[in-house]
Amino acid sequence: MSVIIEAKNISVNYGSSEVLKNISFGIEKGDFVGLAGSNGAGKTTLVKALLGLLPLTTGEIELFGENEERFNDWQKIGYLPQKFSTINALFPATVEEVIALGLLSTKKFPKRITATDRKKARALMAELGITEQAKKMLSELSGGQQQKVLLGRALISEPEVLIFDEPSTALDPNSRDAFFKLLQTLNQEKGITIILITHDTGYIGKYANKLLYIDRELIYFGKFSEFCADHKMKSYFGEHEQHIICHQHN
Ligand code: ADP
Repeated sequence: MSVIIEAKNISVNYGSSEVLKNISFGIEKGDFVGLAGSNGAGKTTLVKALLGLLPLTTGEIELFGENEERFNDWQKIGYLPQKFSTINALFPATVEEVIALGLLSTKKFPKRITATDRKKARALMAELGITEQAKKMLSELSGGQQQKVLLGRALISEPEVLIFDEPSTALDPNSRDAFFKLLQTLNQEKGITIILITHDTGYIGKYANKLLYIDRELIYFGKFSEFCADHKMKSYFGEHEQHIICHQHN
């Protein structure tokens, strides 16, 4: 498998405070990575660094084999926030339009939604099970449906990587399960690489194949199966916590 996102000894500072310390890992095409760590561990900072939004103090990031500073295929990488911002949720556009708007960033002038774009949006809505919501406004949808619209808006430009910021915080347990199953299908059937920030270490192993656990520095990166058998992790987390992280994984 080829490494498509590689962090090489990266550090990030906010002022004089070092938030990420000397972190290295390589994410392969087709991975489903759970990015975990306690509050303030640096998960969001790491994602921002991967998206090229923050300068590195040391080290480098390679995206699809290219140094991030020279990389310009950003449509290959989709980022999904936890939910639509209140302003976006009130934006007077239908679900179908919001999904089609995901194509605008990939377009050169003239930036306009065509009939082909709408057709593409409709095919995606069918795949995501939200066809019946096509003509509704975002504000009329449940949290789970809005999450699928965010997903549709990201998928329409056919990214190879999707990065999620804690998608489960906006969802009840049933919608969360359904949503994660959907991500698993996208991962397995379309080979989309997924990185998902989560605080829910006891749960994500059901879906993710790899765990990236940080506490400002890298605590663990690798397969869940190997995490479970790792004695160093047993002494770091304690047997009980390690078991909680592992027991969902099979
Ligand atoms: P997590 O996502 O794991 O909760 P963050 O990456 O948001 O962690 O934050 C890591 C640390 O960096 C925290 O101590 C946070 O207070 C600090 N931090 C985050 N963003 C900024 C910023 N823009 N300026 C200064 N400190 C920040």
